[in-house]
Amino acid sequence: MRRVVNYAPLTLLPSAVPSTLFEQAYAVQQDFNLLVDAVSQNVGFLERALASTIRADDFTAQLFKIYTQVLKEGLVQTVFLGINRSDYMIDHGADGTPALKQIEINTIAASFGGLTSRTTAVHRHVLNVLGKSKEASKLLDNNPSKGIAAGIGRAWELYGSARAVVMFLVEDTQRNIFDQRCIENELWTRNIRVIRRRFQEVFEKASLDKDRRLYMEGQEVAVVYYREGYVPQNYNKQNWEARLLMERSKAVKCPDIATQLVGTKKVQQELSQPGALESLLPDRPEAVARLRATFTGLYSLDMGEEGDRMVAMAIADPERFVLKPQREGGGNNLYGEELKQLLEKIKDSPERTSYILMDKITPRPSLNCLLRAHSPLEISSCISELGVFGVYIRHGTDLVVNRHVGHLLRTKAVEHADGGVAAGVAVLDTPYLV
Ligand code: ADP
Ligand code: MG
Ligand code: MG
Repeated sequence: MRRVVNYAPLTLLPSAVPSTLFEQAYAVQQDFNLLVDAVSQNVGFLERALASTIRADDFTAQLFKIYTQVLKEGLVQTVFLGINRSDYMIDHGADGTPALKQIEINTIAASFGGLTSRTTAVHRHVLNVLGKSKEASKLLDNNPSKGIAAGIGRAWELYGSARAVVMFLVEDTQRNIFDQRCIENELWTRNIRVIRRRFQEVFEKASLDKDRRLYMEGQEVAVVYYREGYVPQNYNKQNWEARLLMERSKAVKCPDIATQLVGTKKVQQELSQPGALESLLPDRPEAVARLRATFTGLYSLDMGEEGDRMVAMAIADPERFVLKPQREGGGNNLYGEELKQLLEKIKDSPERTSYILMDKITPRPSLNCLLRAHSPLEISSCISELGVFGVYIRHGTDLVVNRHVGHLLRTKAVEHADGGVAAGVAVLDTPYLV
């Protein structure tokens, strides 16, 4: 096996982020945790929200099939662990007032909580070298991997078997292992054993006992932490079987299949519909207001008049929108001319319902240098995306943990409409609060 080590790409300097918006992103994170948890338990909402999507999109349909199957059999899982990352850009809309707007929430394999805990130290050093020690001291400490590991550790404890292990479900070709190691090492220091396995190994060697406890090579598994399994390419027939086996088990899945579905773009769009938040969080009007303030325009392309109207609007003014399929990992959205061409092609086909439409957010660019192994040094006009990590645990019906555990700033050159760090477009950054 060939092993290559590169440093994680990062900006030369931290990027300015308005402190009020940064605080707003933190303040709404516990609301997002509550919301994700509520939706994950609401069968009716998920069924209605995803009905048209699963007719048009095979991947979502497969996930939904497992979801229905495990519900039908009855859940034996009693501890639920959510680790998510809600991502935002700062919109400088028509009137120029900066506003925090959510791009999406990631409920599976939300990454870079480990590597980003190191970027602050690098940026402090760079600022110190440049003689900016006052600025260096202003950079906030940030260690999401510690909070993520604490969440996994607590879920492991609540599962209640001292011999059981935590299993990281990892990619076939591991491209981000050091990010995962940060979390893994935190668990080892808490005397929690961690194993790393691929889908194929689970298919070959995992089993359930009569109480549906999950065993991997003879070891009981308390928590399955997915860092894989969020795109169709991760699955073949055997991997789907392995996924079903884990979902049926008593082990804490992070996330369980329902929570993965909550992270779809279609659910995000349905949550923005009038009345949706109110019905999901009936006793929490303040939380509803905080959540709604971060939403931008999201539109369904379901068959019918309203969908027709939105398709026509997007074809007429493609620069105003982003077209999003039910995919993760960056590089899947369509913009501008591409968006227009695709919509013209599928406008009368139910295929359009596998996408949602979203208002394009336009942050104000700033100059920075994007450092990447084997790339030339140059100054680019850049925009940033801020993410806040959330961790929650539900034990039966009690929410026993609900926290924000740190942040992630990613920055990319403005000419790239799409794409995350893994997609080779964005790089790690540190917010400099202004
Ligand atoms: P993924 O799950 O693939 O990360 P995202 O919704 O985060 O999907 O979209 C990928 C990237 O596309 C984002 O990181 C951001 O750079 C860009 N993007 C997504 N939505 C918008 C939007 N509404 N306005 C501007 N850029 C967007
Ligand atoms: Mg995503
Ligand atoms: Mg994203």
